[in-house]
Amino acid sequence: MTKAIGIDLGTTYSVAALIEDGRAKVIKNAEGQNLTPSVFAETVRGHKLVGSVARRQAAANPEKTVVSIKRHMGTDYRVSVNGRAYSPQEISAFILRKIKSDVEKYLGEQVEKAVITVPAYFNDGQRQATKEAGMMAGFDVMRIINEPTAASLAYGLNREEIQTILVWDLGGGTFDVSILELGDGLFQVKAVSGNTRLGGDDWDERLVDYLAEKFMNEHGFDMKSDKMALQRLKEASEKAKRELSYKLRTKISLPFIKPACYSAKGGRAGGTHSGELSNLEASIDRETFEAITADLKEKLLGPTWQALADAKLTTEGIDRVVLVGGSTRMPSIRRLAEKTFHKNPYIKINPDEVVGIGAAVQAGVLMGEINDVVLVDVTPLSLGLETQGSLFARIIPRNSTIPTSAGQIFTNAENDQTVMDIHVLQGEREAAADNISLGKFQLTDIPPLPRGKAQVEVTFKIDVNGIVKVSAQDLHTEEQTGIRIDASHLLSDDQVEQAVREAEAHAEEDMKRREEVEINIQADNMIRAAELVIEENEEKQSLSCLGEIERAILNLKEALAEGESGVIEERTSELRKLLEKV
Ligand code: AMP
Repeated sequence: MTKAIGIDLGTTYSVAALIEDGRAKVIKNAEGQNLTPSVFAETVRGHKLVGSVARRQAAANPEKTVVSIKRHMGTDYRVSVNGRAYSPQEISAFILRKIKSDVEKYLGEQVEKAVITVPAYFNDGQRQATKEAGMMAGFDVMRIINEPTAASLAYGLNREEIQTILVWDLGGGTFDVSILELGDGLFQVKAVSGNTRLGGDDWDERLVDYLAEKFMNEHGFDMKSDKMALQRLKEASEKAKRELSYKLRTKISLPFIKPACYSAKGGRAGGTHSGELSNLEASIDRETFEAITADLKEKLLGPTWQALADAKLTTEGIDRVVLVGGSTRMPSIRRLAEKTFHKNPYIKINPDEVVGIGAAVQAGVLMGEINDVVLVDVTPLSLGLETQGSLFARIIPRNSTIPTSAGQIFTNAENDQTVMDIHVLQGEREAAADNISLGKFQLTDIPPLPRGKAQVEVTFKIDVNGIVKVSAQDLHTEEQTGIRIDASHLLSDDQVEQAVREAEAHAEEDMKRREEVEINIQADNMIRAAELVIEENEEKQSLSCLGEIERAILNLKEALAEGESGVIEERTSELRKLLEKV
């Protein structure tokens, strides 16, 4: 029997898991890691890189590197790489394809089916786009499930007593809050809320701003004006943020951050070195970090009150608070959970992996490998129509258990009217324009009748994936009436098919490039090892020795961005020699 995998397609990292011997386990990628960075890049030569190799060369190649694409899912955003415009689905498909091929390598067999997770607060377009990305990567997407629901599936399995659980899921780019009732294998989602534009990236950005301003004041150079310097600063800030989760103070050291050709006034100075200090050496303590990000954590509370109100609960009604997503490792978030719910949050599960594990559990349920588990999910946003006066009429209220459907009867406003326009929306605002437009539907082929005599029932369905489907029926003739959907963010069947074909072509090309890929992996591992050596020897080794290693790392990252295998091998070997000296 073919295997089905669970995939947490994260903003920053993605995770794949599957059921083996009745237990869900995370599958390591080709680089031997549990987490695959959700990063895509192209080298100057047009070779595609995905995962940690892509992330490693990001600083040297920021223009051709795509990060946090999840933030744009379901929109008509296009990102241009090497002159080709990619949709968010296509970039996500590159990531999913790598995951598919890594799992296949691990299993030694093809994997076709997958359950993919999305933030509970994702709207229809964002879910559709995720499903499309899965299809483009060659998956049969069995189900799209909510991340916090997946987390509870991983956590609540085998738990007998009924419990009301609240999940805070703070990842790299999104925040979700869900309230669930668990017991006897039944997982009932009571309410969801969230913010699709709040995540660890925002904490990083604060640190970037803080350090850039400091450097500007001290050295008159705006690091944010130089793409490469900014990318290095972003990476260093993210690292410092992580360290501050378990240390009270951390150091940020970025040698040669100021390009040599910059004059003191900040402009390019014709390539001569000004001889000034070009290193960023800073230190920050947890208290300062928490002070400059204090307002961000407060943003978790609004959606939390909303979800509690929707579930008709107060904080006392919550038996357990579960923290999911890498950003919940920040002590300030843990303290906020404690203060808000008056209990210690549950943090036994690895917050990076729990969603992927839950997705694998759901895949196991759908494949019949796991029994006695029923998942009852809800729709995060109300579904409705634009009515007279540009108002929004709710047809399916938010937090309705899915799958669900509701119908509405339409009639003709004019004599012999054969076409009718219907605008479908998702959201909670009263004015139609303030909600998300899912598409304009045109009812066609209505039989010509006097005004008010036609009766067409339009049925709006939300399927188990939270995806909206619309159908229409003429009640006189019981014939299906034509519907034309016009949703700009969706791709046509042809476009999806074309992408699948392209994907397959790339897969072949990728196979051919296996040797190059392995050279990249070796380089990537060498960089990781070198960064570790620097971290561990900061205090012990001489600065010049570590500086040499830093420079060799930068050279190797540049080579990765260029994509010339011979040079990558050469620089990997140079870095290895330097490390051997240490
Ligand atoms: P996720 O989308 O769940 O993989 O979460 C990724 C986010 O978690 C990124 O913004 C990371 O920087 C952040 N993160 C991971 N580990 C830590 C940590 N120890 N402290 C603070 N943030 C972290």
